[in-house]
Amino acid sequence: MAKTKKIGLPLTFGIIIALLGLLAWFSSVIFEGEKPQVRLGPLPQYLSGETAFKLSASDMKRGLRSLRVTIVQGGRSKDILEKRFPFKGLLNSQGIRRYETRFYVDPSRLNLAQGRVDLQVRVWDYSRRGGGDGNQTLLQHKMLLDTIPPGMRALSRMNYVNVGGTGLLVYQASSDTVESGVFVNELFFKGYPVGTSSRGGVHVCYFAVPYNAGVHPNLYLWAKDRAGNVSKERFPHHIRRKKFRTESIQITDRFLKQVLPYFSFYPFEPEDSDIQKFLEINGKLREENGRVFFDLRTETLPEPLWEGSWLRLRNAATMARFADHRRYYYKGEQVDEKVHMGVDLASLANSEVPAANSGRVIYRDRLGIYGNTVVLDHGQGIASVYAHLSDFSVDMGQEVAKGDVIGHTGQTGLAGGDHLHFGIMVGGVFVNPVEWWDSHWLRDNILRKLALLKP
Ligand SMILES: [Zn+2]
Repeated sequence: MAKTKKIGLPLTFGIIIALLGLLAWFSSVIFEGEKPQVRLGPLPQYLSGETAFKLSASDMKRGLRSLRVTIVQGGRSKDILEKRFPFKGLLNSQGIRRYETRFYVDPSRLNLAQGRVDLQVRVWDYSRRGGGDGNQTLLQHKMLLDTIPPGMRALSRMNYVNVGGTGLLVYQASSDTVESGVFVNELFFKGYPVGTSSRGGVHVCYFAVPYNAGVHPNLYLWAKDRAGNVSKERFPHHIRRKKFRTESIQITDRFLKQVLPYFSFYPFEPEDSDIQKFLEINGKLREENGRVFFDLRTETLPEPLWEGSWLRLRNAATMARFADHRRYYYKGEQVDEKVHMGVDLASLANSEVPAANSGRVIYRDRLGIYGNTVVLDHGQGIASVYAHLSDFSVDMGQEVAKGDVIGHTGQTGLAGGDHLHFGIMVGGVFVNPVEWWDSHWLRDNILRKLALLKP
């Protein structure tokens, strides 16, 4: 008896300790305080239409109990998603630990008003905390509902544009506009803000109607606001058709022997004949070079760097015009055709080449068939191109004034003789430079519209 008591007391005590420990462990499990993890994406600042959200929730301890997504505006709230997860197995050991779903917020179906909208996500787990409701995670995301497209209005009423030429549109766009400009078929020309008025920001947009844009190119004004709403608007314009020349060029063996050595850097096939080499550089290399020119459109500054009239190489004869359609013949057969995207000017060899207007050097390097090439940015998407130079007189990034010598004429690249290939680009698209040299065209189509902007 005494013996059992002696042994019994510590045993009972041990059992109590063990039970207490078990109870503590059990409590810590069923009353665990770890909140569910919730992730939501995207987290847009603005809402402009039906938007998809991805939601993922997890609770690695007791598992997920339920989740609810609510849209709150003003005093009103509306549940747009509710999900309950069944309790499965001992202590929910087989319950759902991770859950992923997508849901949509459609402002028009939810009848939301413009302005502040809150998205709330609540997730509970199977802990016995919170009076049995479980641990709750609340994720709240604030947004602004804006479904009103930006307003815009063309200010310049007379917009005559030649095919292959440049147009300038002056327009207003509402103050929440983040990007705007003019579309010509699939090509986008960015507009630049130049000031504000009572009706919003005033913008200028230089655009090109490419020589091959077709008879009725699709021109419209386009704007996007901070919420992503887009407006499209027609504007008054008149496209003038233009005839371009067709030219025949005879490729001689003598010409090939003269120009091909320059292209020793090009990975020709060893078995290529001279004419095959010519077709390769006139095709593939020309295309590659064209992409380099087009990509330079992003290097432009938002303010104008140019002023007044545009200079042309002094005492120079025009050897080839803009958009000349060239047919290449070799030994009596047509072997290729290409379109000439600038004006070829020939003067004395090694003539000084003046900057056509004030600007900034955004390219100064060898460029395939164009040889030594300088590109000047004149701001707001306008650039001038000088090719086949014998040397450079400017550095990359240098600011130049109108008339500054940027280099000397030469015959680097694919050139049969000393000349300047001069080009003007608008938004990366080559346009007819003759317009820019023409003081009447410049006054009527550009300077008059710009003058309206001056206070
Ligand atoms: Zn040329």
